[in-house]
Amino acid sequence: VATTTQHEPIPEVAADAEAGVLERDLVVMKFGGSSVADTQKIKDVAGRLVAAREAGQRVLGVLSAMGDTTDELVRLAYEISARPHAREFDMLVSVGERISNALCAMAIRDLGHEAVSLTGSQAGIVTDTVHGKAKIVEVRAQRLHSELDRDRIVLVAGFQGVSTDLEVTTLGRGGSDMTAVALAAALGARVCEIYTDVDGVFTADPRIVPTARKLKAVTYEEMLELAASGAKVLQLRSVEFARNHDVRLHVRSTFSKEEGTWIVDEEDPVLEKAIISGVAHTGCEPLYRVREIDAAKLFARLAEASVNVDTILQVSTDEIVFSAPLDDREACDELLGSLGVEWSMRDDLGKVSLVGAGMKSHPGIAAKTFATLEGIGVESKVISTSPIKIACHVRTEDVPRAVTALHEAFELDLD
Ligand code: ASP
Ligand code: MG
Repeated sequence: VATTTQHEPIPEVAADAEAGVLERDLVVMKFGGSSVADTQKIKDVAGRLVAAREAGQRVLGVLSAMGDTTDELVRLAYEISARPHAREFDMLVSVGERISNALCAMAIRDLGHEAVSLTGSQAGIVTDTVHGKAKIVEVRAQRLHSELDRDRIVLVAGFQGVSTDLEVTTLGRGGSDMTAVALAAALGARVCEIYTDVDGVFTADPRIVPTARKLKAVTYEEMLELAASGAKVLQLRSVEFARNHDVRLHVRSTFSKEEGTWIVDEEDPVLEKAIISGVAHTGCEPLYRVREIDAAKLFARLAEASVNVDTILQVSTDEIVFSAPLDDREACDELLGSLGVEWSMRDDLGKVSLVGAGMKSHPGIAAKTFATLEGIGVESKVISTSPIKIACHVRTEDVPRAVTALHEAFELDLD
């Protein structure tokens, strides 16, 4: 289907989309900010897009803003105003992607190929009206199909769309992944390639565990757990979207021709079944303790404030403990402050998470995890699990040792 919807379809518009057009020979290639950090790198990316075209594929590129451009634009906004106006903020921060994509289209033309760069709006990416973290509600793909039919390499500015009120919106930090995945889904692309400055998804952070290995493939579920547990390589929302729309993802390096890591469903032939895929970590995962509040009310309010609550413990009838990522700390502090309840927060803990689809059918993983941590004298303050994850809050200074010990205990360095 040429039209994709994340939430409610917009019926009138969906009706005139050319349902059924699939671009099976299309590859969507997304390049992150560090891959397009200067003009030479943009020329290299142009070369890579052209090579894919010359190999006979149709090519749609999605480029992030150059290097730290977005951070710089955000900084400017806050230099002007403590509370930048939401609409103008999106007008501003969406600009970075126009620059990189337009420059790349010029470079492609110099290589003798047809190319066109488009804003999110020109590309037909329709979102809801929530500035700063808009959700894509539809992709009107006619323009994209017709540009591809004209034999052009099409470049789409990542991270942005146009709202149903015809305003420019942005999709949240790291949102170019979302643009790429949504376009791959809407056009029915064979694969969505995510080019970045690392070789793929690793069994652990190689800066902590030098023997960490690049994974050949992981399932969407594993990637979701890894991303939620601190692995930074993909935006969480884009992985959810890929899973819901069956988009195969391939995370790989901009700077080499090597295969990276495939993110696919459990039935995919590229997957080799492993019990444990990796150990993710965060150096700081704030832990909140709240007294005398009804759990239903507390978590409803946290959800409204878009706080991504992770671990939850009902310690006693009048006490709840939960954790939330560092990124949500401001929102969380503000909300708890406004509730007029007794609460406290500690930020001297990090989180170590063991992730693997094979856990579902292998008993003893939890036992081995705890024995390993005990063996190196690391105490778990809070433990949380999902069918494919065991996560332990440990003291921040113990995080690297815990990651290393678990990586070794589960022999993740062995192929
Ligand atoms: N440039 C935007 C950001 O830095 C979007 C992206 O890179 O994906 O968040
Ligand atoms: Mg970026």
